[in-house]
Amino acid sequence: MTTLKIAIQKGGRLSEKSKELIKKLGIRVKNGGKLRAEADNFPLELLYLRDDDIPKYVARGVADLGIVGQNVIVEKTHEVQEIRPLGFGKCRLCLAVEKDLDYPGLEWFEGRRVATSYPKILQEYFATNKIKVSIEEISGSVEIAPSIGLTDAVFDIVSTGSTLIMNGLKEVETVMRSEAVLVGRQDLSPEKQALVAKLVFRLDSLLRSRRYKYILLNAPQASLDRVLQLLPGMKSPTVMPLADESWYSVHSVIHEEKFWEIIDQLKDCGAEGILICPIENMVL
Ligand code: ATP
Ligand code: ZN
Repeated sequence: MTTLKIAIQKGGRLSEKSKELIKKLGIRVKNGGKLRAEADNFPLELLYLRDDDIPKYVARGVADLGIVGQNVIVEKTHEVQEIRPLGFGKCRLCLAVEKDLDYPGLEWFEGRRVATSYPKILQEYFATNKIKVSIEEISGSVEIAPSIGLTDAVFDIVSTGSTLIMNGLKEVETVMRSEAVLVGRQDLSPEKQALVAKLVFRLDSLLRSRRYKYILLNAPQASLDRVLQLLPGMKSPTVMPLADESWYSVHSVIHEEKFWEIIDQLKDCGAEGILICPIENMVL
């Protein structure tokens, strides 16, 4: 029988969220070994790897799918297909310099030394900007490089910026933004493609559900039409009479983008008892 293999990070910032995502796709993983585990209700095997190796394993067909940061994909340049961004592992890759430096702009970097674990992304960035720098590739604790006298600046992953501040650095340029993505290999068999399509269908309904909320409220009869206009829903809202004949219960879904704006307008229409619930899955 055909089994899909998916590579996820073994231990690190993406590990827990990757496992949680697989669970939310309805996949039950048996307690396996340290390096691999099998699902018992979907033909899927999990491979636990270092994130740096995931693009290569997917490109070479050792794994069919992978969950990895876009930063790693760009750095490693293996041919993999980005299937969906996953909304977690969000970070940015930034250039940082000593905090007291009066930074004049990118030209400051001309002839300087920069420490990073992402030499390829950095080299391309400076090449595009026609600035010559010397790049020191180091695999960890990049942020200490200036204080120990190795380099003049660093290029590293930032999410809150607190690590930079703790090391007496400040962010001066954002080079790239990244989040975790589902990637796939290019040439899957039709059987495997069908399994990937099944997973992506589940993933899409999960990702869609995160952007919407389920809303329930009571509306007075006099403003029911206005309330319904505010809540178009998937097809149209559900309206049910309450025991008190001058009131209705209205159920619908709303998009997170317009969320507070719509709530304010609903209150202005006299809506009461507004309940907002998360949606677990949204299958169209
Ligand atoms: P490995 O041992 O697998 O090589 P690592 O130390 O290289 O792990 P992590 O620090 O676990 O990597 O980060 C994995 C990925 O998570 C990064 O490549 C990036 O996409 C994302 N990431 C890194 N730092 C952050 C952060 N502070 N906030 C959010 N996402 C981050
Ligand atoms: Zn890594």
